[in-house]
Amino acid sequence: MSKPRVAIHKFASCSGCQLAFVNMGTELVELVKLVDLVHMAEVGHVLPDDAEMDIAFIEGSITTPHDVERLKSIREHSKFLITMGACATSGGIQALRNNADSAEWMRSVYARPEFIHSLSTSGAIANYVKVDFELWGCPVSVRQMLSTVRSFLFGVPPQIQREKVCQECKRRGNNCIMVTQGAACMGPVTRTGCGALCPSFGAPCYTCYGPAENINVGSFGRRLMGLGLTQEQVVRKFSSINNAAPAFSDAAKLFCSEPWMEE
Ligand code: SF4
Ligand code: SF4
Repeated sequence: MSKPRVAIHKFASCSGCQLAFVNMGTELVELVKLVDLVHMAEVGHVLPDDAEMDIAFIEGSITTPHDVERLKSIREHSKFLITMGACATSGGIQALRNNADSAEWMRSVYARPEFIHSLSTSGAIANYVKVDFELWGCPVSVRQMLSTVRSFLFGVPPQIQREKVCQECKRRGNNCIMVTQGAACMGPVTRTGCGALCPSFGAPCYTCYGPAENINVGSFGRRLMGLGLTQEQVVRKFSSINNAAPAFSDAAKLFCSEPWMEE
């Protein structure tokens, strides 16, 4: 029996998610026993966007009209389409430009901006086509990728993780760095999937896995200000890698507009 065909497509991104994939080591050998990795430009396998696929992973955000055409063709020819990382799932750090005047930026950077054909926004894949599953993270967790491929291959629903990084810290027995050190850690509003990587090494979480479920950004932003952050610093905390995820962009707008400290 032929193995399922898998493609990894790249749009606007740093390629870090693909590198995480390539770096998975012996597990990559296990994976290619299950599937045929037939398109991945990073490792030299290149097929046209209209090649038929069982699973298409998408890295990167949509930033040009040409990207939109490519993406629609990939969707049309793929049974399952899965976003891979923050760029593809929420628009990435490059979505900060969505709040700026992109035409003005191009005029200020390029001598001949008329040759640049880009959209005014950096958009998530789901803004343009149906997405079957989303993998968050910057970069994605290889463990999550493997588990998702296995789920699709065996016809079972993939595991959706929406709980907070804090819960992963508790399971690992970490001391909370917000409580014990006053660190401005974003774990209470960030979804897990990384295994609480940063706090486990004493560093505050900076939201790379996107918003967790049931978060109260108003209360949490006030807690950050209680730790000494200014209102502008709170806005910046929410305006990171997943700045265009609705829960975080709403939080940034909330703290842009309200005079919280004066109350
Ligand atoms: S999600 Fe992060 S690591 Fe992945 S491509 Fe985007 S910027 Fe790079
Ligand atoms: S702790 Fe936060 S910033 Fe660090 S890897 Fe996990 S989700 Fe990303």
